[in-house]
Amino acid sequence: MTRDPRYDVLFEPVRIGPVTAKNRFYQVPHCNGMGRLHPTAMATMRGIKAEGGWAVVCTEQCDIHPTSDTLNHYVRLWDEKDIPTLARMAEHVHRHDSLAGVELCHNGYYSATHYSREIPIAPSGRPIIGTGPIQARAMDKRDIADFRRWHRTAALNARTAGFDIVYVYAAHDYAVPMHFISPRHNRRSDEYGGSLENRVRLLRELIEDTKDAIGDSCAVAVRFAVDELAGAGGFTAEGEGREVVEMLAELPDLWDVNVAKWTDDMSSSRFAAEGSQESYVDFVKSVTSKPVVGVGRFTSPDTMVSQINRGVLDFIGAARPSIADPFLPKKVEEGRLDDIRECIGCNICLSTEMYAVPIRCTQNPTMGEEWRKGWHPEAIAPKDSDDRVLVVGAGPAGLEATRALGQRGYDVVLAEAARELGGRVSRECQLPGLAEWGRVRDYRVTQITAMANIAVYLDSRLTAAEVRDSDCSVVAIATGSSWRRNGLGRSHDRPLPGSDGANVFTPDDVLAGSVPGGPIMIYDDDHYYMGGALAEQLRHAGHDVTLVTPEALASAWTVSTLEQDKIQRRLLECGVKILPLHDLSAIHDSRVDLSCVYTGETSTHECACVVMVTSREPCDGLYHELVADPETLAATGIDQVVRIGDCYGPGTIAAAIYGGHRFARELGSRPTGDVPFKRELIELAQFH
Ligand code: ADP
Ligand code: SF4
Repeated sequence: MTRDPRYDVLFEPVRIGPVTAKNRFYQVPHCNGMGRLHPTAMATMRGIKAEGGWAVVCTEQCDIHPTSDTLNHYVRLWDEKDIPTLARMAEHVHRHDSLAGVELCHNGYYSATHYSREIPIAPSGRPIIGTGPIQARAMDKRDIADFRRWHRTAALNARTAGFDIVYVYAAHDYAVPMHFISPRHNRRSDEYGGSLENRVRLLRELIEDTKDAIGDSCAVAVRFAVDELAGAGGFTAEGEGREVVEMLAELPDLWDVNVAKWTDDMSSSRFAAEGSQESYVDFVKSVTSKPVVGVGRFTSPDTMVSQINRGVLDFIGAARPSIADPFLPKKVEEGRLDDIRECIGCNICLSTEMYAVPIRCTQNPTMGEEWRKGWHPEAIAPKDSDDRVLVVGAGPAGLEATRALGQRGYDVVLAEAARELGGRVSRECQLPGLAEWGRVRDYRVTQITAMANIAVYLDSRLTAAEVRDSDCSVVAIATGSSWRRNGLGRSHDRPLPGSDGANVFTPDDVLAGSVPGGPIMIYDDDHYYMGGALAEQLRHAGHDVTLVTPEALASAWTVSTLEQDKIQRRLLECGVKILPLHDLSAIHDSRVDLSCVYTGETSTHECACVVMVTSREPCDGLYHELVADPETLAATGIDQVVRIGDCYGPGTIAAAIYGGHRFARELGSRPTGDVPFKRELIELAQFH
């Protein structure tokens, strides 16, 4: 297949100072949980992006000094000892004729410096972000001179490591140069404070220093948040944000522009659509002749072309779309648009960032596994047996197992009890704001439909006898899970009194359309999206809704997906009552008993019904029935029965996709040993 000529513009080369990008696909900096702690895994993942056609592939933020010690796994260029890790990444990127970019960064008052124990620095003294009992100190002139020296040295080391593009970072409210610009943080009265000219001084000096140090051979990029989205106290795209770009317009070789803070730049699909930053950044190209890159969770090539042709951007910046599909550019180039795995905007990719473990992605199960498991996002080993595989259940686990087995060349039979494919995804994408999650199903259904070696049966709830009669040698049970009605979960290890009443419902009931009437109490002991999303849905349907949770926040775990504050705000704005720090202790006909999680003090609340969002029970009856009779199983030619996805362990959609993929990858070749992946271990220092 060849590409559609209307996408030709995306494949034009673009000059960035002394270097040239081969096309307009630009992987902007993004964290990955691997960084310097898992350097070969990180470098391999970046190399695969380059292989997939991204003309520019950047690091995550790269700390330049121990006073910017934010999370211990980010890459660093503190001194030349850090060069080899970065050089490995640049080398992997260069193998595919792409440019490697490094985002030099100093987090200033955002750094907790837990590892280095250095005192954080900032334009003016202030507590660090978060609740840690640490204050950043105000930088004096000597500190500013040191800061410029560190940045210059890091730029030189970046060039030695092989980078083509070196960033000066002033975005996300995470960077000292941005802290100097922001009137919220800069209370100085010297030539670095007061007027905008003064507050921009440090950023200007850093750009000049970097150009002077390496500008002959490397492009110097500036990443700048044009709008703080911080209300009246911060700078805005109409005001000082625009003026900053005007003042420095021709100084860098490239402008990488977005909005602060990270939670806004990286809004989930629940809160922002594709291209949502356009109205903030669309002025930039009118005030500079330098190329401009911006982000917007771009997955549609038509939207990308529109961004270029309308003069909004020169480069299509992407973090999440490149995670969900590292081969997105190649697929556009080859005219394979149906093969694009579109990002769903769930933000699972960064949810594990704080744990310093490899990145994962709902849509792309190979993300983070490229080196340690040797999983390539596009390539998979051909089948090594003539096994015929029966997959029971077409939720995310069953669909992904079927797709990947089909790609390997196996004959697969997929049986689904419902009249449509997708399982929980088809139900949950009906919840407010979650429509894009349907892409998990759509991508796989499109792929499966195109494969002649896959047979799909809908409306087919299989019994054990039917499985035995299926004429398949391998059976994967992907029958999912159901929400518990009895309240078992984190807070309760016994059924809740009254949970067997007719006024008790589960999320499955609500999603199936049995919307209970009267004042509704949602008891959320799960803490991810379900409780909050149901509250929003039921409220929109006109119900009086109260959300009770033992946590201090509604949908508390969504802090990890950068959604929590937005969810709580939306719930409050639409009139959901939130009762935090309370547990459900008993359910009666028209009321419930709640107890304070600290004091145990009880209170009674009127409600017509309760929706229990606590935990899920695997639907593994079919599996147990089959394996309980191994002789009959063997007599019917079935060698292997496995559980995958929620049927094996209820979890996220990402975990179900991963489980399905893993089963398909490993069929016929399970890794030996108890550790199922390669590890890169720290080399011990000489010790006397
Ligand atoms: P997962 O997230 O693990 O993929 P889901 O709950 O999304 O799980 O999907 C499980 C699917 O299995 C549902 O679509 C359900 O209708 C289907 N299913 C459950 N039991 C059977 C069965 N006995 N035969 C066929 N399909 C089944
Ligand atoms: Fe997109 Fe979700 Fe994958 Fe992140 S985890 S890249 S948001 S699909």
